[in-house]
Amino acid sequence: MRQRNVVFNAFTLVHTDEALLSWGARMDLLDRLGFTTVEREKTDAEHLPEAVERWTRRVESGEMLLPVDGLVICYDDTVYAAGGSVTGHHATRAGFAFKWQDESARTTLRHVEWSCGATTITPVAVFDPVQLEGTTVSRASLVNLSEMDRLGIGENGETEIEVIKANKIIPKVVGVVRAAGKYALPERCPACEGPVGVAVGPSGARTLKCSNPECPAKNLKKFERFVSKSGADIDGLSTESLRDFIASGFIHSFADIFRLDRHAEAIRELEGFGRKSCDNLLAAIERSRVGTDAVHFLTALCIPQIGADAAKRLVEAYGWPGFVRALDEGADFAGVDGLGPERSAAVRGWYENEANRRVFRELTELMRIPEAEPVTEAKGSCVGLTFVITGDVHSFRNRDAFKAYVEANGGKVAGSVSKKTSFLVNNDPASASSKNRKAAELGVPILSEDDFIARFGS
Ligand SMILES: [Zn+2]
Repeated sequence: MRQRNVVFNAFTLVHTDEALLSWGARMDLLDRLGFTTVEREKTDAEHLPEAVERWTRRVESGEMLLPVDGLVICYDDTVYAAGGSVTGHHATRAGFAFKWQDESARTTLRHVEWSCGATTITPVAVFDPVQLEGTTVSRASLVNLSEMDRLGIGENGETEIEVIKANKIIPKVVGVVRAAGKYALPERCPACEGPVGVAVGPSGARTLKCSNPECPAKNLKKFERFVSKSGADIDGLSTESLRDFIASGFIHSFADIFRLDRHAEAIRELEGFGRKSCDNLLAAIERSRVGTDAVHFLTALCIPQIGADAAKRLVEAYGWPGFVRALDEGADFAGVDGLGPERSAAVRGWYENEANRRVFRELTELMRIPEAEPVTEAKGSCVGLTFVITGDVHSFRNRDAFKAYVEANGGKVAGSVSKKTSFLVNNDPASASSKNRKAAELGVPILSEDDFIARFGS
């Protein structure tokens, strides 16, 4: 089970000491169970003001390891506390919260950035950097159009705003000190340049939305699959990074991933992205550009009904770039083993879409997909079998000659025993070698060389 941090800043006010499982006891129990809990202390009514003062000094000195925005002060006696009153959203009778005032700063709004996500285009205030709670802050979400109007956000560079870090963590614009003019709505989606419109939610909040159903920001899942291990396998391009790059307009299509180097400077400036992670990412993209084979490439494309298995069958049937030629010629793939008319129609339908065809061509130019020969039907006594050969051999000239025989008969020879091994060939089946032990463990049958010749020899 994953351990979760319990952020619970409590110190308890003792009324009586009769309670069965008091707040203090609950926290102690969490400690014993191995959770990480926050600091706390017991005090009483007389010493409470002094305790609040002491905690205030500690928080202000910056010595706390977690961001702290207040104290929870509760009765240790839960039975007594149950007799207390309850407010709307604080469903506790046991105590109350003490909050420190948020540190705020005034700064000038530079511009409003519009960032397209899966559901809405979110306004983000970008302002002259200020120091808050010990960190430099230069951006804060403005939530939606209604919130921008409520605050009175004006024109870029003219508006003076007041910023806090809500709960000491999330930067937030709390007010406009001096407004000028009126902000301008973007005419096009920042991610796809499609048309935008204002939508009114059930609570009356006005939000900006992209009306293009093909908008990349709405199709994050496809990009996730493109970069996944079974696809182009780009390490370091997390969902968050993809979302950021799409929202920033760096990525509109799969092909743009291989042009991200054009935005290297801007990426290094993105929050949570440093020079090092940007360089690592560009290196991973380059590895994928030259190292993705045809099967992984086809799997990455998100062609409906074409997963890794169907992609493999297509590449085996046509080779590469033979498959590209077949696509251009409008070939029927229904005859390919395991594909059938429905999947064949899915591939052709996908390629008939002009946008898909364009991205496909761009990708095949940008990437260096190695050529592959079509796999002709294998023949021989070892087809579909994987052998591991160990120890001395006597009928074959040596192990290499043994291996060549297996391969000539359609089989494979591997270096180590795994679940995929069909047979281990070893003339000393009683030996305690690691390969023998592994074979026994996995239930892989062990053959002597003579057994092998009897079964698979010509
Ligand atoms: Zn869009």
